[in-house]
Order: sequence, then C-alpha cells, then structure tokens
Amino acid sequence: MDLMSAIPNRLLVRPRAVEGELAQGFLLRVSEANGLASPRSLISVGWRGNDPLTWTGCGIMPMGPINGLGSLNRPAGNRLPSRFWSLRRARCCPVCLSESPFWRAHWGLCFSVACSHHGIKLVDRCSCGKELRWHRSQLLTCTCGEDLRCLSAESASAEALHLTRAIEVASAACWEETSNEGKKELCDLMHRIWLLGAHTAGNGAKRKKLGNLHDCAQALAIVEGAGRVLCQWPDAFFDLLDGISMKAAPHKANRMVAVFGALYQDMFSEAQWYAYSTLRDAFDIYVRTRWTGQVAKRNRRLDDGSIEEHCWVPVTCAARELGWRSPRLRRAIEAGLVRGHVRHLPSGRTMSVVHRIDLDRLKLDQMDWIDLLGVCRLLKIGKVRAKRLVQEKVLRPVAGPVIDGSSVWRFRRVDIEALGAFLFSGDDQLENASLPTARGTKSATP
Ligand SMILES: [Zn+2]
Ligand SMILES: [Zn+2]
Repeated sequence: MDLMSAIPNRLLVRPRAVEGELAQGFLLRVSEANGLASPRSLISVGWRGNDPLTWTGCGIMPMGPINGLGSLNRPAGNRLPSRFWSLRRARCCPVCLSESPFWRAHWGLCFSVACSHHGIKLVDRCSCGKELRWHRSQLLTCTCGEDLRCLSAESASAEALHLTRAIEVASAACWEETSNEGKKELCDLMHRIWLLGAHTAGNGAKRKKLGNLHDCAQALAIVEGAGRVLCQWPDAFFDLLDGISMKAAPHKANRMVAVFGALYQDMFSEAQWYAYSTLRDAFDIYVRTRWTGQVAKRNRRLDDGSIEEHCWVPVTCAARELGWRSPRLRRAIEAGLVRGHVRHLPSGRTMSVVHRIDLDRLKLDQMDWIDLLGVCRLLKIGKVRAKRLVQEKVLRPVAGPVIDGSSVWRFRRVDIEALGAFLFSGDDQLENASLPTARGTKSATP
C-alpha cells in the first residue's frame, strides 16, 4: 500500500457520509468522531480536501465546497457555482438536527433561509450571541456548550417557505450526479432569486456583488423580495417594472433600455438565457400591455408580436391612420377623450402615444360621423336652429372647435337618427329638459 492510500487509515473512526450531507458538516462529524479539537486537526492526519483518496471510505461523496480550512479546502465543483454557496457561517434547522444529526447540504446554499418541513427560519447564531462557525469540536454543540437542537427559531414567511421548498426540491435533484436537469434547474432558480431579489430588495445596480449573503437575515431579505415577485407572477413582476419606470429620469422615461437598464441587460444576457426565459416572456407581455414608451422597430430582442401589438401607438402614426393632424389628436388625449400620454421632453420635443384600442374604435366610429349640414338634412331643420341646439347641448358633437380643436363640428349619425326618431314621434319640444340628448352614451371618443 502506498503512502497516499494509507492516509485515510490513520483515522481511527471513519464515519460514512449521509445522502445530501454538506461536506463542511461532514468534516466536523469526522473530527468529532475521532476526538479532535476541530476539523482543522484533520490536516495533521493527512486529510486533503482536494485529494480523491482522502474521501475513499466515506461511502457517497458529501456535497459542496470546503472553505476556510486551509489544505482541507476544496472548490465547489461543477454541480453549482461557488457564488451560490455560503459557508462562512453554519446555518441549520434545530428541529431537523434533532430528528437526524447531520448537516443538510442545502443549508449551505446562500438562499436557503428556512426549513419548509418545520416552517421556521434557519438559525445562524447561537443563543450566546455568537455566529455559528465551523471551528468547533462537536457538530451539535456551540463553542459555549449550548445544544444547537435546543435553539429557538422564528416562523418563516410564506414567501421564504415557497422559495425554500423550491430550493430543497431542486437541490435534491441536483445532488444526484447523473441528473443534469436537476443541476440546471437549481442553477436557474438561484439566478432568478439573485436577480429579482437584488432588484426588489433595494439596489439593483449592485446585483453583481450582493453583499453579506452569509448573514441569514440579509439573505432572507433578498429571498423574500424575490418571493414576493415569484409568488404573484406575473402581476408583481409588472408592478416591479412599473416601479422602476416611475423612478426613471424624465429625459429617459420614454426609452425602454434606458429605463430598465440593469434589469433589462440581465434578462437578455446570453450567459443566463435559460434562467431568465420566464422573465423575458413576462416582460414581453408587459411591453404589450403596460409600457407607454416607445418600442423601437429595431429592437430585435423582443418578440415581433410585441412590436406589432404594442398597445401604445405614437401619435404621428395614429394621426395618419385617422387622417387627422397630430396636434388635434394630442388635444384629444389631453382632454381625456382617448387614452394616451403626452410627454414634453427637455429638448422641446413632444413624445406622445395613444392607446391602440381607442385608436381603432375612433377609426371605426368616425366613418359614421356627419357634419352640421348632414344634421340639418336628417332633422329637417335650419343651420341657425341646429347651432342653437349645439349651444343648448341638445345636439352634442363628438368633434369640433371646443372639443379637439378641429374646425368642423362632427356628430354621430346614430345619435342624430335617435334624436330624429324622437322628434318625428310628434313631440317637437326640443327645449324640453326630459329630452334624450343627441349623445346618449357616455363615451371617451371625441
Ligand atoms: Zn427543519
Ligand atoms: Zn453559543
């Protein structure tokens, strides 16, 4: 037997790893079983974190990297990137530990903040006030002597439990070496929590360096932020996008890429293309239904449909469709006659959009508009009388000088016909207050 393979034999007791056990916790179990002061002491018996021979005899391979133990350290491996591991402190569910005394691998993930089996937050601090560290002699005991199984834990929020359950399920699949799907699913989930958490829990611009995730309370804030969005998908995501767009500087407010900056770049980054596909799909719906700024035709990142179907049409295009001049349509928007937005930019230009549905209705509607002369012909009255009826608001135009600034009064044919039917029924008292007015339906259409 050569020297290398003899190394593990220098330990008197060789515990076997449990399915889904965290490597860092396993080392502590090994050192405790051999009566050593801390896992660090395993160095003296020749244990090397990165040496496969060291691990022979452990049965299955425990999961996760090993940090902070010198030559015992080993990298995260290719199951999950090291950014998703957080081992500076030891987190645990006291109830799980009392049921089965080994360290669950998923507790080592930075976004594991709760235990879905027991509905409580994970604990990373002892009742003595000290953070739980890996430098200790016993797996289930703090350096102060407190039994970790007796630590009290607060109950966890619905959002934290929802994501914790997802992490637990995905990590169980990920630990199976043969399952590439499980590995991909866990990575994607962690990426989504990272991105949404960073943008909801505060400063999205610092998302690349989410700080202090080893602190369970900090990680909890991120997870709950992401949970609020993911638990009410996609409405809460739309609200998040609305919030970001409201904060945008006025001179940027019309440009999608400028408004959604970091979030937009992340969602469309090729590196996490699959992780963010649900986000992009929802973003696409958001652009169609809620975004009032421009959608550039050259934006190749969006589905062609969302450019075609985008709810908001620039006023210049809409006016062309209507056969109007743009200022008239802008006045109609400002008068609240059609849904739209008029933005005056610092450059002096005006960006304005009108809602596609209102525009289509207006187009259909105005095919059946008649002018004052048409009204006179239909009602068999003179022009002077017709004008008086307009002043008295018996005849209500849908377009005209004081409505949208157009020079010609327009009326709906159906309204005039209804009024005519009333007149021809024999009662010619147009001044009568009980008359149906020539614009019975309340409509936003000019
Ligand atoms: Zn538990
Ligand atoms: Zn303690």
